Amino acid sequence: MRALAFALLAAGALAAQAADYAGPLFDTHLHYNQEAWDGNTGPYPPTEALARMQRNGVKAIIANSRPNAGTQTLAAARETREAGVTVVPFVRLYRNRDDYSNWFRDESIYEMVQTELARGTASGPYRGLGEFHLYESANANGPVAKKLIVLAEQKKLAVLAHVDDTAIDLLMANAPSGGQQLRIIWAHTGIGGPPVARVRALLERYPLLMGELSYRPGLTCADGKLCPEWKELILQHPGRFMVGSDTWVNQRWSAYDELMQGYRGWLGDLPPAVAQRIAWGNAAGLFGLQ
Ligand SMILES: [Zn+2]
Repeated sequence: MRALAFALLAAGALAAQAADYAGPLFDTHLHYNQEAWDGNTGPYPPTEALARMQRNGVKAIIANSRPNAGTQTLAAARETREAGVTVVPFVRLYRNRDDYSNWFRDESIYEMVQTELARGTASGPYRGLGEFHLYESANANGPVAKKLIVLAEQKKLAVLAHVDDTAIDLLMANAPSGGQQLRIIWAHTGIGGPPVARVRALLERYPLLMGELSYRPGLTCADGKLCPEWKELILQHPGRFMVGSDTWVNQRWSAYDELMQGYRGWLGDLPPAVAQRIAWGNAAGLFGLQ
């Protein structure tokens, strides 16, 4: 009798819990760097990387890599098409590690971007620039950073930026539109964890600003579900958020299943139509996918 009561209780608890989101995912922050695969060797050749996407229901990716050869490889691979993964290529601003702290003032980066844009990829033209980092917000005003922002707005390229909230304002101010027509995808939506009220204010000031949610401090609580203030923000702005893996080191490739499962867990706690937008629809709409 007691065993039966326990079983009924357990079943009730399970039923009360929302099911995980089960639809397609758009990984909007994927790196395919040379440590993962340099074209000849590495722990994650295209078949391995794509197997991870495929078994997690990842149907599209924003691909960028250091150097850009990794993105070119994924964009051209037969395995990518076989896995049913659409590649949306971005030009990475880094050829090597030194470029992380110099790109915003290095004229040769601007030239490299022009060359890549002219060349395109086997999956079509580049659709964005980045990811780039600004460890000091003021470098948003570096001469090359300024030129790249103008270029991005003019060519309608999205910008994947790992920056703080101050730098969002500075980058937007450098766009010809004053930020009204510049599409920034804010990597991590601020990895330093600016308050939710500040994120909300930025979303309201800049109509094309999007938040990518990997590594976002304070996003989820102990149960793996969204913390209340984040749930409120996402429900208020369901068209402004996206998810990504950020495979910046190989450890993220080895944890890819858990990362995607984590997203599916908290997405399942949202109304299904909202979950679909965050998981897939917002990015698919941005880049014209079905
Ligand atoms: Zn990244």
